Amino acid sequence: MAKYLITGTNRGIGLELVKQVLGQGHDVVATCRKPENVPELRDLQRANAALRVLPLDLASAESRQVLVDALNGDAVDVLINNAGMYGPRDANIGSLRESDWAEVMLVDVIAPVLLTQALLPNLRKGTERRLAFISSKMGSISDNGSGGSYLYRTAKSALNQAAKSLAIDLQPEQFIVLSLHPGWVLTDMGGPNALIDTNTSVAGMLKVIDSARPVDSGFFFAYDGAAISW
Ligand code: NDP
Repeated sequence: MAKYLITGTNRGIGLELVKQVLGQGHDVVATCRKPENVPELRDLQRANAALRVLPLDLASAESRQVLVDALNGDAVDVLINNAGMYGPRDANIGSLRESDWAEVMLVDVIAPVLLTQALLPNLRKGTERRLAFISSKMGSISDNGSGGSYLYRTAKSALNQAAKSLAIDLQPEQFIVLSLHPGWVLTDMGGPNALIDTNTSVAGMLKVIDSARPVDSGFFFAYDGAAISW
């Protein structure tokens, strides 16, 4: 039994991650901005002593510190940095706004990396030492055949770069660090035309996280285990 910490668990891929990880018999610390507004998490908590739900607004340094303090030094085995945002859909060249871009960079890159940094003492106490960053194929430069999506693409590319550095920096401590593409998934972000459901995406990603070997650390994989080029 391992202890997972997952961000962005009030809906979409994050909520499904919580359900499936609990279903595998693990302990979960599920974080989201306003736990009191999420009946699904409350119901899961009622039925499951292995679930702890804690507030976290990634964009707030204070909120990140409150989370770290609430853990009180507990070990974390697997950290899944799932929360993310796309930014305004109409942000194209000609209408890009600094404040929108800065917010996406904060939530999608800076905050997950700073959270990971703040949780290193907890992760070092864990036995698994696995870090998963939910990225996107849209962050792959070699896959960019359609342009646009400046905010989201640059944020996920930068997240991949940070994950690579973490993999190298933490390799001497036997951490395994993965960038993951969940597929095009039916969620608020993925929209109604997406190709797979959260169940398929999450089952696949958990298998990838679970089966990753040291040699896989610092690489980018899709939910089905396929390697993605940067
Ligand atoms: P959703 O839009 O359904 O969910 C996004 C989650 O991130 C929500 O829980 C949201 O919380 C949370 N979040 C956003 N901003 C913050 C913040 N400041 N603090 C804390 N939590 C925050 O998206 P998905 O479930 O689809 O996406 C999950 C991950 O998968 C993201 O990183 C996304 O980029 C990635 N992804 C998704 C794809 C898809 O097709 N769906 C494709 C490729 C990657 P709140 O409700 O409070 O806003």
